[in-house]
Amino acid sequence: MTTNGMLHVVNPATGEPVTTVPAASADDVAKAAERARQVWEAGVWARLPARERSAVLVRLADLMERDAEILARMDSEDAGKPITECRTGDVPGAIESIRWFAEAADKVFGRVAPSRPDGLGLMMREPVGVVAAILPWNYPLAMTAWKVGPALAAGNCLLVKPAEATPRSALHLAALAAEAGLPDGVLTVLPGYGREAGAALARDPLVGALSFTGSTATGRRILKDAAESNFKRVSLEMGGKSPQVLMADALDHGDELIDHMIEAAFLTTGQNCTAGSRVLVHRDIAQEVLERFTAAAGELVIGDPADPRTQLGPLINRAAFDRVAGAVDAARAGGARVHTGGLPHGLPPRGAYCPPTVITGAPDGSDVLTRELFGPVVTVQTFGSEDEAVRMANATEYGLAASVWTRDLDSALRLARGIEAGVISVNAYSEGDITTPFGGWKQSGFGGVEKSTNAFDQWTREKTVWIRTR
Ligand code: NAD
Repeated sequence: MTTNGMLHVVNPATGEPVTTVPAASADDVAKAAERARQVWEAGVWARLPARERSAVLVRLADLMERDAEILARMDSEDAGKPITECRTGDVPGAIESIRWFAEAADKVFGRVAPSRPDGLGLMMREPVGVVAAILPWNYPLAMTAWKVGPALAAGNCLLVKPAEATPRSALHLAALAAEAGLPDGVLTVLPGYGREAGAALARDPLVGALSFTGSTATGRRILKDAAESNFKRVSLEMGGKSPQVLMADALDHGDELIDHMIEAAFLTTGQNCTAGSRVLVHRDIAQEVLERFTAAAGELVIGDPADPRTQLGPLINRAAFDRVAGAVDAARAGGARVHTGGLPHGLPPRGAYCPPTVITGAPDGSDVLTRELFGPVVTVQTFGSEDEAVRMANATEYGLAASVWTRDLDSALRLARGIEAGVISVNAYSEGDITTPFGGWKQSGFGGVEKSTNAFDQWTREKTVWIRTR
């Protein structure tokens, strides 16, 4: 492979180098796309019976189970994610995704139109051909699996570009796919820089569909590149500023409420697209919620991501730390109150650690209320009525997720209907499971969704076949 330099993988907890990986150049991407096109045209994957594609992918899921610890450590070291999260969340979720879509490979049906008697109108579902995925660093393996599962189950040849910081688990996945018997050239992992390898994928004329997960700013650029090249079909899963709405009876859920709030706010150290980074609480319970939530945040175990007890690791790098700290400082300067328990002593000085932070009294429209901070920072605002809660929940350009807490089913449904987001969870912080679609509204999402059988829409297209009958 000719390279456009190297990717330097650094452990965010220590600032120490982990490894270097050759970075794919634009030329490498073009060659990989040509090779994928040849493999596609040879039909070695798409024309296999779907049951056989399924069997290969089931073997891949089995091999991921065998190597689960290796995969968990890779993501933990590269992204600074607490190892317990990787072991119990990311890796099992990724395996489930590959297995679920493997089993769905022979259940992708077309349709028959109610046409006139002398014709038969078939609407056939076909794979797109050469397709691509561009991935973020915060859920490296899990997001890869959400795309690899349905893309390969549908019969495509897939090019994957992992994020600069986290290339290893995707590379390992490709090695496991080869071991599982996936034909050469069906899955190609291209570690590289976004501006070079990522942009080359977005502009490649042979790539028929591209699925992206990452920031809204990059998603917008990719959509432009797709339009200026070959109008490839684009699906974008992007940022969020998700509300947790607590009605006046929310404390009936007791500690369970606080536990879910903590998970919503601080999972993956708050570097989570669906992070519940805006708590909207009914004023009758606001004081008690604030006290209990702040106290629970102060008890989080902050430290080395490799330690199974760690609940909060470092941010991905110093630049992320500076961005988050700058936003908190600006909020404080603007009159907001910042509640934080600080950091424990003895953390590695080069690790980008940021304490769990709760902000109250932020002025309307201020950055901490509207911008995705991507760190362990949560704002708390109060409301007095359901209508006000909905208005506040929707006061952002994002619409990825929301959670709603109340025992009143009518109120829960009105809130779920009123809040503009792709996934609403009631009495839980949850994204659903593999059977439910996941995708953002407004500037959080565009095009297709992930998970569920709906995910196949990203990776297949419908063809009308009209048969004249007598
Ligand atoms: P990012 O947008 O910086 O990078 C994402 C990917 O895009 C990387 O692989 C990067 O190399 C690539 N890229 C960068 N510039 C590119 C370009 N010009 N053309 C093509 N590709 C390019 O995002 P990130 O910092 O890696 O991830 C964090 C963001 O991801 C957050 O905004 C988060 O909310 C979002 N995210 C969303 C979801 C979701 O499902 N909605 C899931 C996880 C993360």
